[in-house]
Amino acid sequence: MTGNGNQTVVIIGAGLGGLSAAIRLAHAGFKVRVLEQQPAAGGKLQRIEERGYRFDRGPSTITLPHLFRQVFEAVGRNMEDYVTIERLSQATRNVFQDGAIVDLTGSPEATAEQIAVYSKADAARFPAFCREAAELYRLSEEQFLGKLLLGVKEKLDPRLAWSFMRVKPLTSLHRLLRRYFRHPNTLAMLGRYATYVGASPYSAPAIFAMLAHVEGERGIYSVKGGTYAIVEAFVRLAGELGVRIETNTPVERITVRNGRVSGVECGGRHYEASLVIANGDALSVYRHLVAPEHRPSVSDGRIDRYEPSLSGFVQLLGIPRTYSQLLHHTVFYPKHYADEFADIFREKKPPADPAIYVCHTALSDRTAAPPGGSSLFVLVNAPYVTASWRWEQEAENYAMLVRRRLESCGLDGLGQAEVAITYTPEQLLRDTSAHRGAIYGISSNGARQTFFRPGNRSRDIKGLWFVGGTAHPGGGTPIVTLGGQLVAEELVRQYRT
Ligand SMILES: Cc1cc2nc3c(=O)[nH]c(=O)nc-3n(C[C@H](O)[C@H](O)[C@H](O)COP(=O)(O)OP(=O)(O)OC[C@H]3O[C@@H](n4cnc5c(N)ncnc54)[C@H](O)[C@@H]3O)c2cc1C
Repeated sequence: MTGNGNQTVVIIGAGLGGLSAAIRLAHAGFKVRVLEQQPAAGGKLQRIEERGYRFDRGPSTITLPHLFRQVFEAVGRNMEDYVTIERLSQATRNVFQDGAIVDLTGSPEATAEQIAVYSKADAARFPAFCREAAELYRLSEEQFLGKLLLGVKEKLDPRLAWSFMRVKPLTSLHRLLRRYFRHPNTLAMLGRYATYVGASPYSAPAIFAMLAHVEGERGIYSVKGGTYAIVEAFVRLAGELGVRIETNTPVERITVRNGRVSGVECGGRHYEASLVIANGDALSVYRHLVAPEHRPSVSDGRIDRYEPSLSGFVQLLGIPRTYSQLLHHTVFYPKHYADEFADIFREKKPPADPAIYVCHTALSDRTAAPPGGSSLFVLVNAPYVTASWRWEQEAENYAMLVRRRLESCGLDGLGQAEVAITYTPEQLLRDTSAHRGAIYGISSNGARQTFFRPGNRSRDIKGLWFVGGTAHPGGGTPIVTLGGQLVAEELVRQYRT
């Protein structure tokens, strides 16, 4: 398709959302340049290789692969020619303090059988819960995820209002779970889905029960060569379509002329553009790249009123041994899961006894580690960056605490790691300009933060758009990829000649 060649687009940031938009727009004939401050594309998703161990720093749980596929199909390509994404049969192992284990295999019946080992009552109610989770997914896909909700007309659509009421916006995920379940293991395992959107199960709306359907039934996927292979595939496709990606290029300012975006400035150079799409965190972009006089509807006070999502403390461990007790994804739960969210969101400190997520990439992809070795990605939830916790002083001690807990769960030999790298929320903030080092943009604690995210189109500056975790439809790799497609489609529609 051509006809938009006179539209010059600058995209700030080469995260998945930015790349997704770039591909669609370039295919439609727009001239697209992506400016990325980091040395490599990928945003929060980066590849780290050391001494034969390969890690994806950032996302590891890949769901909803059709949203990645859509990027290729929309421009007439086959995803399989670029990247291989395969369903994992034994995806996630949940290990509880009382010794119970629940493996998610994609079969609700098999999950219920394992729940029955510790709670027959919870197991009996699991099928009804799965039906509700599937219905919540259907509603959200139909009414919230697949649309930009730009205008008053769309926002006041009675079908949207009807669906809004059906997704129980004022009921928390935890309260919904309590209608079905009593046992702390089940409540922790299903409540943890709130963290996939950077929130607490006690505050996130019930709609996020849909993630139990997404992960438990639609499945978890692994990417051949690691999650970063999705970035490589997007970069290759973008290059084929003529997108220019410039790395090590931090944008310092978005320029505005007569209420319309005119380009961006970096390193003393002005890049003219008729459209600017910010893929960097929307709140950071407003605060640092748009002069206050150009954004009367987004004051610094308004930016501060949004609650950032939780962040994460990461350890990458390259160890010359294997771990038969791990699946590709394994979660070790603490005794009192609720304390984690009080620590993170109330005390703004890392959990004293965290749930620990371990991704054992080499289990599904032997090339991720030397023969007989393991590349473990260890993640615990952490608070967004505030003055009350300084990682620079605390990272090593906290890393030790997490490793000791894993050792107490039977993961011996972590001290033999040949590679041990920590990555803190402060580093995430420095590298990606994520607002307060948050992983998922703003948190989804409460209905306002979930359903009224910053819009994809600036209200103050014509031609300025947003894609990525903070903006609608939200964070997570498939959802930001979808967001990029939705914004690009809208621009193609608006500028069709
Ligand atoms: C530790 C961790 C674990 C995660 N786990 C998962 C998971 O298991 N599954 C999942 O689906 N998601 C996960 N996520 C979330 C997922 O990574 C993000 O939601 C997604 O990658 C964000 O994409 P984005 O399009 O919003 O852009 P981002 O990845 O935020 O990229 C934005 C880019 O913009 C650039 N930028 C910002 N400002 C400027 C500027 N001024 N000039 C130039 N460039 C700029 C940044 O450097 C960055 O590269 C995880 C994230 C982290 C950090």
